[in-house]
Amino acid sequence: MRLLIIEDEAHLAEGLRFNLEAEGYEVEVVDSGERGLERIHAQPSFDLLILDVMLPGIDGFSVANQLRKEEKFLPILMLTARGRPQDVLLGFEAGADDYLAKPFELAILLARIKGLLRRTQWQAIASRPRNVFSFAGKRIDFDNLELKAGDRTLRLTLMEANLLRYFVQHQGEVVSRKMILDDVWDVHEDTDTRAIDNFIARLRKYIEEEPSQPRHLLTVRGVGYRFFPEPPAGGE
Ligand code: CA
Repeated sequence: MRLLIIEDEAHLAEGLRFNLEAEGYEVEVVDSGERGLERIHAQPSFDLLILDVMLPGIDGFSVANQLRKEEKFLPILMLTARGRPQDVLLGFEAGADDYLAKPFELAILLARIKGLLRRTQWQAIASRPRNVFSFAGKRIDFDNLELKAGDRTLRLTLMEANLLRYFVQHQGEVVSRKMILDDVWDVHEDTDTRAIDNFIARLRKYIEEEPSQPRHLLTVRGVGYRFFPEPPAGGE
């Protein structure tokens, strides 16, 4: 397993390298977002990216955004500053799959890495029943993190897939922004919920014919959202 670490604090980066190599990972470290993107373009076989948010030059959000734009499928574990829940939401919006607030315990980092690698390897286990939900001409493949809509196939981040799965599990019910923060993102502080709305806007681009006039993922004013696989008759 090859890991890339983008972290400008040399002391932390080398500590991570040492410990991750001791766990059997191949590790490469760079100290800026620009160099990180260069390495990913030059070496497409990385299995996971550990991405610091605060970097000289372009920040971690921009790196994640850029990879999303290029539709690179590389799981991202983002390192955020503690006490900045907004960073977590911005990270998920940018395309991070998981996050860890600094300072963190090495054991927790290792568990998160294993978890991410395991989840992204599900697709390799052929005997596993497919974890798929189809509705209105779309097909969400939760194992492969793919959404098929017509002849388009979109890559989902783990967080997008988790949120879609949550809506599928609660279809027809009102899902509040607080439920999303608590149950899907595990962010418990008071947070600016506009980040959620931006996230929903992106999901609508994926699943709605006309994202500005959603028929599946409806807003419940002042509360949250409701998901309908089949649009309710007469609208809501
Ligand atoms: Ca930093």
